[in-house]
Amino acid sequence: MGDIITLLPDHVANQIAAGEVVQRPASVVKELLENAIDADSSYVQLIIKEGGKTLIQVIDDGKGMSITDARMAFERHATSKIKSASDLFELHTKGFRGEALASIAAVAHVEMFTHSLEDEIATQIKIIGSDIQEQEPVVAPKGTSIAVKNLFFNIPARRNFLKSNAVELRHIIDEFHRVALAHPQIAFTFFQGGNELFDLPATNLRKRISHIFGSKMDVKLVPVKESTSVSSVSGFVLKPAAAKRTRGHQFFFVNDRFIRSPFMHHAIMNAYEGLLPEGTVPGYFIFFSLDPKTIDINIHPTKTEVKFEDEQSLYAILRSCVKHSLGMFSVAPTLDFDRDPNLDTPYNQINKQAETPNLEVDSNFNPFKNPDVQRFSKPKEASWESLYVEVESQPIPTLLGHESMEHKTYDAVKLFQLMNRYIVSSIGSGLLIIDQQRAHERILYEQFLKTITQKQIASQQLLFPYPLDLTPTQQLLLSDLEDVLSEAGFVFERNTKTNITIKGIPVSSSEKEIPHIFENLFASLESDLPSDSFSQSDVLSKSLAKTLSIKRGVPMKPIEQQGLLDDLFACKETQISPFNRQIFVILTKEELEKKFN
Ligand code: ADP
Ligand code: MG
Repeated sequence: MGDIITLLPDHVANQIAAGEVVQRPASVVKELLENAIDADSSYVQLIIKEGGKTLIQVIDDGKGMSITDARMAFERHATSKIKSASDLFELHTKGFRGEALASIAAVAHVEMFTHSLEDEIATQIKIIGSDIQEQEPVVAPKGTSIAVKNLFFNIPARRNFLKSNAVELRHIIDEFHRVALAHPQIAFTFFQGGNELFDLPATNLRKRISHIFGSKMDVKLVPVKESTSVSSVSGFVLKPAAAKRTRGHQFFFVNDRFIRSPFMHHAIMNAYEGLLPEGTVPGYFIFFSLDPKTIDINIHPTKTEVKFEDEQSLYAILRSCVKHSLGMFSVAPTLDFDRDPNLDTPYNQINKQAETPNLEVDSNFNPFKNPDVQRFSKPKEASWESLYVEVESQPIPTLLGHESMEHKTYDAVKLFQLMNRYIVSSIGSGLLIIDQQRAHERILYEQFLKTITQKQIASQQLLFPYPLDLTPTQQLLLSDLEDVLSEAGFVFERNTKTNITIKGIPVSSSEKEIPHIFENLFASLESDLPSDSFSQSDVLSKSLAKTLSIKRGVPMKPIEQQGLLDDLFACKETQISPFNRQIFVILTKEELEKKFN
């Protein structure tokens, strides 16, 4: 057999490399924005069309490129940022691999204008799939404009793999947030399909955060600052009262580069100990400034993990300075007029339900008068029933209207609530133990799905329209879901780019739940925004079910327990919650008998 090994042609090698660097439009956005920042720009514009599938353009006013550099920039391993391996330990730029432009040009149509500070004339270059189509001198402003069109035009499999425009846009917005937060001193604008999504003037970090996430953020920010001889930590954490059930505003940056770090996240959680309502996560914007020598610089272009040389002490510094800031904040009330009075009591105490004494006889109890318990016919059981304390719980909408319903397979008399969390009932084969929250999630989920898909719109008009501030991103998500939302019963009006008025809500919700409904909805949309209407209905129904369900720890009246069971067993699926969790367990006679062996 003769020689069979050959070197791959450049355009093939570039396409392979592109597979790693360019995963989706958001990766292109990240690379182009980072190049613009490395070029010392003071104003960067991002323009996107169709989730970046047809156009991603970044225009900067940075140092530009010479005629030769303009062409060199698209060669693989072509970089102006390092010259030797030792430079790797002194990195102060975002890029250094010289791979991004070559990779992008291998899988798209690229058109660049660039004008360096020294040159009289600008250069225009057009490349299609690594082939330079034209390069000529032109007139253009100082700086660089790169337009990337028809991404993956030559790799149909990759192109088909892209998600809906809305999902791709969501990823782009995430990248944009990260870069814009890391560089508040640079002005940014972001246009999508002709609409301005962001207009961020050059400012400080505090104001940048509010410009991106809404003006209400400002009062929630607590500054954090600490420096040692080798490192410094700075930024903001959010007040405990602003903690959310969902991940959202968690940002770490190392030398102005966004990173993920479960380890440092843990340090922050630790600092908040005792201050957070259960199940919530605090928001933070933390910047580490470290000697480049002490971090692993060989960061993969698409990865956001980083290795620290001295992870342990960084953890300790972060934890203690966050703790210190939170402490300062609550013990020095006179210094801070924005202070949240809730901080006087540890958070997990404030939100605790008052304990209800378990045994208390209702002396007014009359089984024949109280419609709730009329069907508990056996007198002995009825007085047992009176041991229930009448807790004034919230009326739970979908559980009402069961007064006249006949109970079915389970025996209502032997129905009770355990630990304010489970509904327990005796059934023929043993003991049925139902998780109240999961059961209610299932019930609400099926109800909402039915309302939406069958368009049985059931909306209640609000007496006082409810204004809601949104970020531009949230507005955008909302417009994608507009049809499904209105089918679920929401009526709203847009006022400005960041403000809407809610005029109607689904009948099974109440006004005070509006902020939670939207907070949870946006959180679930952030992870995925489906494009087809069925999946949208599914996401919305799940989110509403999660928000509006009876939570663990909430006492339920017998009538409500009964209703919950009736509703659950009327569901199409009774065993698994919409979040794939088991709704009930049955303890069989045999299992019980074994325990008494
Ligand atoms: P890297 O950023 O790793 O050096 P890239 O492929 O992203 O590799 O870019 C190659 C080179 O092109 C950069 O090193 C830089 O010299 C030049 N370049 C890219 N984008 C710009 C820009 N917006 N302004 C000025 N120079 C740029
Ligand atoms: Mg680069």
